[in-house]
Amino acid sequence: MNEHLLSQRTRKDHAAAVAAAAAEVGRFLDGRTTPRSPASPAHLESLTEAVDLATPLGTLDKALLEVRGLYLDHAVGYHHPRYLSHLNCPITIPSLAAETLATSVNTAVETWDQGTSACLIEQKLIDWVADLIDFDRPDHLTPDGVFTTGGSQSNLQALFTAREDRLSRPGPAGTAPGDRGVRLSRLRIVTGEHAHLSVVKSARLLGLDPDAVITLPGEGDRMDPATLDRALSSVADAGEEVAAVVALAGTTDHGAIDPLRAVGEVCRRHDVWLHVDAAYGGGLLVSPTRRDLLDGIGSADSVTVDFHKTFFLPVAASALLLRDGSGFRHSTVSADYLNPVDGDDHAVDKSLQTTRRFDALKLWMTLRVLGADGIGRMLDEAIDVARRIGRTIDSDDDFELVRRPALSTVLFRPRPEGCDPDEADALVRPVRDALFAEGRSVVAATVVDGRPCLKFTVLDPELSDRDVTAVLADVRAAARYLADGMRQATSAGVLS
Ligand SMILES: *Cc1c(COP(=O)(O)O)cnc(C)c1O
Repeated sequence: MNEHLLSQRTRKDHAAAVAAAAAEVGRFLDGRTTPRSPASPAHLESLTEAVDLATPLGTLDKALLEVRGLYLDHAVGYHHPRYLSHLNCPITIPSLAAETLATSVNTAVETWDQGTSACLIEQKLIDWVADLIDFDRPDHLTPDGVFTTGGSQSNLQALFTAREDRLSRPGPAGTAPGDRGVRLSRLRIVTGEHAHLSVVKSARLLGLDPDAVITLPGEGDRMDPATLDRALSSVADAGEEVAAVVALAGTTDHGAIDPLRAVGEVCRRHDVWLHVDAAYGGGLLVSPTRRDLLDGIGSADSVTVDFHKTFFLPVAASALLLRDGSGFRHSTVSADYLNPVDGDDHAVDKSLQTTRRFDALKLWMTLRVLGADGIGRMLDEAIDVARRIGRTIDSDDDFELVRRPALSTVLFRPRPEGCDPDEADALVRPVRDALFAEGRSVVAATVVDGRPCLKFTVLDPELSDRDVTAVLADVRAAARYLADGMRQATSAGVLS
């Protein structure tokens, strides 16, 4: 069995295995004529269930062949021009070369003695991102950051750090220094109505009250600074404390960006922590033409950036940046087996993880090949495509544009001739499900202003008008077919 372990002796087998896997990927890319296979979930389940884990196949070739039938033949192809569903980006080839390196060398970015050069590369990238954010700060504060598995983890650690920062300061009048439990139960997180679910989940994990997250009604899809100002005052008046305000730089559905500069000013005035969730909009940091959309992001105390969304890197790659890097002390626990060296801090000191992948190498390789502008330009082009689709939909009588694209999502509703608004609403889910079942075009469905709508998330800068027309034709055909069916059912009294 030892022949399957990577060593100098088996390096040729490793090279052959990587080549064989790459060939399978080539087959996947060539063979994927639709974004997903039309196989039903029940069929896929039966394929997986039929595998007997007690009987190994013995060779890599056989295992690859099996995985082809179980997975690759049916995996959803995010690279496919008719995949317009979620925030899955096309990925750079340099990042895949980096994945092979980092995974094969298997560096754990944890302690200096386990990965000195990886720690240095990671830190240089963290400093680079912090410079792009350009935190407003006095000279004595040094920003810092840590790579994470995704926006959810980045948000959790940001809110944890904000909670500890708040509790380390004097509480409101009437609380004694030892009243941590009492203060914890009165901590609030204030955010907008389109905050990511990870904000509420983090509040739960952080032991806050079930009602700790205060969701402010927005002005359009964005946070209203005046509403925020009033909310912060009333929290203080109630003898409660704000752990953090979470502003969004790109809401998951709308791509809406809160007025970060004005929000930052309100937060400073109330002396509360501002976290900016830029999981989606973070790529604008390198945009040659749209960096101004993030105006004011430097007023944040912490920022989440997902490289696996708008920096075109494979999952997982995200980071949390702190304006005052000393805030990571709240995440630090020392242990003898980490081999601490006096005065040396370890990467693990800043992370919620211990053993951690060297995901930073993907960003490094991509940046070294394409440059920051090269990455940002791809996002710019994807945004241009989304705006073009918005105009196309707006001028088509069969569709209703629900929002002008703020970033790279397009929200719309099919509305075939003769459909009233209620009928159009009722069509959304069935249209999405019909397209998904068929597998030819994959789009998302969501709810905007209480009404269902379809969503395209555009992250492919190469998406052509022809591809878009083809997806829209599928949506149109499904909507007309289902609308006819609904009308016949209504007139036959099946539905009322
Ligand atoms: C995607 C997203 C997240 C979560 O990021 P993951 O990488 O999926 O964990 C958080 N916030 C926003 C606004 C997002 O769009």
